[in-house]
Amino acid sequence: MSEDCLFCRIAGGEIPADVVAGNDHAVGFRDISPVAPTHVLVIPRAHHPNLAAVAEADPDTLVAMVRLARTIAEADGVGGDGYRLVANTGAAAHQTVFHAHLHVLGGRSMGWPPG
Ligand code: AMP
Ligand code: ZN
Repeated sequence: MSEDCLFCRIAGGEIPADVVAGNDHAVGFRDISPVAPTHVLVIPRAHHPNLAAVAEADPDTLVAMVRLARTIAEADGVGGDGYRLVANTGAAAHQTVFHAHLHVLGGRSMGWPPG
């Protein structure tokens, strides 16, 4: 838990968020500035700076995050049509919060390549 990390504080319940699901390792909450009808962030409960760091430090949590993303997509009704998982890693890739997170995006057709 890092006191100055926004997502640590959300995971700890110190800052309110629209939490939709959780398990022992991860929690999912709606993005405050959604870019798709379904836009949920899945974060590890423990602090890791990005998704690759989760894979190195705690592979079970990485698996739990992907499973939770699927559960959330299905609960939002986008599991069948399809959804996108995005893990911006580093400032050049538009990572703005340096606590690992997966964006779960769905509910509209997605372009490629991403912007
Ligand atoms: P990224 O740019 O990949 O680091 O994504 C960070 C995401 O966190 C952005 O989509 C923001 O809209 C979102 N965000 C920032 N603050 C909050 C918050 N308090 N609650 C929910 N989502 C947030
Ligand atoms: Zn954190």
